[in-house]
Amino acid sequence: MKYFALTFLLFFCMQTFAQKEKPKPFIEEMLKEVSSKRIEADIRKLVSFGTRNTNSDQDNPTRGIGAARDWIYNEFQKISAECSGCLEVEKQSFLQQPTANRRIPKPTVITNVFARLKGTSDPDRIYIVSAHYDSMCADPADGNCDAPGANDDASGVAAVLEMARIMSKRKFDATIIFLTVAGEEQGLLGAAYFAEKAKQENWNIQAMFTNDIIGGVTTFKNAPNRQTVRVFSEGVPSNETEAEAAIRRSVGGENDSASRQLARFIKETAEIYSPDFSVIMIYRRDRYLRGGDHIPFLERGFPAVRFTETNEDYNHQHQNVRIENGVFYGDTPEYVDFEYVAKVTKINLASIARLALAPSAPKNVRLITTRLTNDTELRWDASPEQDISGYEIVWRETTEPVWTNSVFVGNVTSYVVKGMSKDNYFFGVRAVDKDGNKSPVSFPKPGR
Ligand SMILES: [Zn+2]
Repeated sequence: MKYFALTFLLFFCMQTFAQKEKPKPFIEEMLKEVSSKRIEADIRKLVSFGTRNTNSDQDNPTRGIGAARDWIYNEFQKISAECSGCLEVEKQSFLQQPTANRRIPKPTVITNVFARLKGTSDPDRIYIVSAHYDSMCADPADGNCDAPGANDDASGVAAVLEMARIMSKRKFDATIIFLTVAGEEQGLLGAAYFAEKAKQENWNIQAMFTNDIIGGVTTFKNAPNRQTVRVFSEGVPSNETEAEAAIRRSVGGENDSASRQLARFIKETAEIYSPDFSVIMIYRRDRYLRGGDHIPFLERGFPAVRFTETNEDYNHQHQNVRIENGVFYGDTPEYVDFEYVAKVTKINLASIARLALAPSAPKNVRLITTRLTNDTELRWDASPEQDISGYEIVWRETTEPVWTNSVFVGNVTSYVVKGMSKDNYFFGVRAVDKDGNKSPVSFPKPGR
């Protein structure tokens, strides 16, 4: 009996080490193409519009949000032309009525600009990488002041454009949307419109990343945690129902939302593809009391995370450009580290690529509770993808932040983990295809 227990333990330890994924040349090739020079040029171009405040001029060809909108649209069109029209480029406009917070003082057209790279085998499954192209000075309603917004958030837009350039030359199983929104500074208005429309039309959005302030402000160039980016993810879903909350409380699921699994997937991606620049997972929806474009997606049940530089400098965000008592204030390109933006872009790119190449995460994953036992039985629905090779069971101690162990169990739809009680570990299931691409982890619900 003791011998069995020992072999059993050894078996699982071996599996844990055996599962470490090797980088795929297909993804590494794309990462090599990420150019900090192009990113810099894009950021400077966006800054050149003077202001991109949502209340600024929409018809002036050189200054204001309209000029920025048209430039982004044309960039997507150019990228599409280079891949024989592989991108569907859209301007999504709506009339925003004045908001209660007075940040939109009069009826204003808000336009999201995005490009869709259709998936080859699973086009209905969608992954979104996003940023906001609007900017602000100290007053979010002021459409006239200079608001360069180099870090917040031209850095994010540049990352999205760079990903579109590189990924559009390749094919992926699932659809990727390169999204840039406006009205962020007035209350996440563009993102909310996009997410609501997606919900109404039943889009199958499996992940949304917002990149907001990824410039790596140069103030912190020598900080000890310089080679990191924060990824914020919520633990308790923003759209949770009372019934779901009751189940979550009774199984201890507050650290295992789909967005938290997504954050773990991104951290894992960085460990595979970016050994010198890592992800700090922040177990929060966003920064303390603050918000971003991922929130309207979370509120509608779409898994989403936020990327933001590890250290922020508030002298270079949302400031009127000026010198005061010898101190410079303003979000100008001089304070953006283009190499840093490129590194964050690479983690985004590798993560979206892994997601869009992999099968969807297993559905209807249940932890079987028909009788009390010290074994753990999991069941799930077979994935619809044609190229499934099987499934991986993952687990961790309840106090661990990430999945620590895994075992490949083959092409089955149930598995009993012997001698490991569901009381003492968290378990999950992920799908694996024939090329070894792995989905994010699905966290089980109690079931039969
Ligand atoms: Zn922002």
